[in-house]
Amino acid sequence: DLDRWRELQLPRMQYNQPATLTQSRTDVLTLTPWFAPIVWEGTFNRDILNEQFKSMNVSIGLTVFAIKKYIVFLQHFIDTAEMFFMVGHRVNYYVFTDRPNEVPKFTLASGRRLVIIEVIGYKRWQDVTMRRMEMIHNASMETFINEVDYIVSVDMDMKFTDLVGVEILSERVGTLHPGYYWSGRQSFTYERRSQSEAYIPGDEGDFYYAGGFFGGSVREVYQLTGQCHNAMMKDKNRGIEALWHDESYLNKYFLYHKPTKILSPEYLWDNGMGSPEAVLKKKRFLAVGKNSAAIRNK
Ligand code: UDP
Ligand code: MN
Repeated sequence: DLDRWRELQLPRMQYNQPATLTQSRTDVLTLTPWFAPIVWEGTFNRDILNEQFKSMNVSIGLTVFAIKKYIVFLQHFIDTAEMFFMVGHRVNYYVFTDRPNEVPKFTLASGRRLVIIEVIGYKRWQDVTMRRMEMIHNASMETFINEVDYIVSVDMDMKFTDLVGVEILSERVGTLHPGYYWSGRQSFTYERRSQSEAYIPGDEGDFYYAGGFFGGSVREVYQLTGQCHNAMMKDKNRGIEALWHDESYLNKYFLYHKPTKILSPEYLWDNGMGSPEAVLKKKRFLAVGKNSAAIRNK
């Protein structure tokens, strides 16, 4: 919170001076028109950020859902998170699952623990993914608010392949979807039916954000997930479901509650997407291939 930022004092450090007349990256947008940084490799100094967040004794909650067959992804997900996610900081893994007995035993680095939150497994995969909003919302005030400062919510059919650290933390955080970061807003797969709460007209929209990676302070994540869940329930009662489920509602939310920080596709990459990669200096968090038909709805 603000008190901790106010009291923060750094030690003496040596590093390359930021050069006022030189852009750290000239090939990508690094700041939105509302002054939110877009996080690309080369735009930040991890050592400075680590000192700042370390001296605040920050703690981070990583939420993942391992419902039904997706439990098979958990082992590799946590193993790679131990190598790359928030190394040196305090981390709680919050594993939402309907199969608590199938959660493997992990040996975690110090300052890190795994918390199992038992939830029901909805029958339709669309409901599994959408209900994450409600479940995170409820856990925010029951658990997260007493235990961590920030929440990071991600998909679990993923693995960490490079560092993902405190450079991603901010009040409200969205991530550029790897399939659309070079596209114009007309090509974004926003919900285009005006009857839906997720509707975005053709002449609006900043970015296409991924449903598989968002975060923020616990209070903000509580708000975000609550609003998205309410919008989904309104639509459900009218018999409409947005095109890309929770992702569509998240995009609507971020249009009118603009993120205070945006992560580049380095933080959510899919090798199968056929996206242009020239601007990509790191792949930090990668989709592991899956046979969707076989693994969903089982
Ligand atoms: N999920 C789950 N069990 C399911 C379907 C989905 O646990 O049967 C969770 C899981 O965390 C997954 C997320 O919901 O990463 C989003 O679903 P998915 O990854 O299939 O969506 P995609 O990335 O293919 O759009
Ligand atoms: Mn996924």
